[in-house]
Amino acid sequence: MEQSLANEETLRKEIIEYGLKSYESGFVTETEGNLSARLSEDRFLVTPSHVPYEKRQVDDVVLIDPEGEVIKGSRRPTSETRMHLAVYKARPDVSGIVHAHPVYCTMLAVMGEPLRPILDEMLPYLGGVIEVTQFAPSGSAEIAAECVKSLGNRAAVLLANHGNLCVGKNMSRAFQTAKYVEKYARIYLQALSFNRVREVPEERQKQETPFYEYLKMMDW
Ligand SMILES: [Zn+2]
Repeated sequence: MEQSLANEETLRKEIIEYGLKSYESGFVTETEGNLSARLSEDRFLVTPSHVPYEKRQVDDVVLIDPEGEVIKGSRRPTSETRMHLAVYKARPDVSGIVHAHPVYCTMLAVMGEPLRPILDEMLPYLGGVIEVTQFAPSGSAEIAAECVKSLGNRAAVLLANHGNLCVGKNMSRAFQTAKYVEKYARIYLQALSFNRVREVPEERQKQETPFYEYLKMMDW
């Protein structure tokens, strides 16, 4: 029990810390986006609704159950709670989620353009092509289902006309994915603007993709 409480405190701090990093990286504006962490099989910590990133305190983070019911906290959980919970249910390997609206990923999401394997390191980090969901309204059960479907077993997904969602074995890895995906999206869009995109050769793609399963469970 004590260990679980210590873990809860650490995760609350991490949610604040990585939220600030997301804000300072320009991945979100004002109160956009949300983060969450898996505390145990049936307990999750999520960011509060409408509290600015710079003002968040550890007690603002909300503890919820798998149905999204609040167990501890005076704030309202993020309006995208359903999407986070759907991902945790579908992906036991995921314990951290960063959802944001970064400019380049969101451009691809607006264009309905999946992020293709254009860099050698992409496949082992992300697990394959980063797909764009079908459109569904923010906060709906539909977007939760579309998100899970288009995420598959990969590390990120682009949410149509909205933003992205990045996952990891912990908060640190989820945020790391968010940084990489935004950088890759920027490179892809700039190459697209010259109409000269060459993907990583297919044979190399086949060689590299299996490393994802190993790398996604590593700490760094
Ligand atoms: Zn959003």
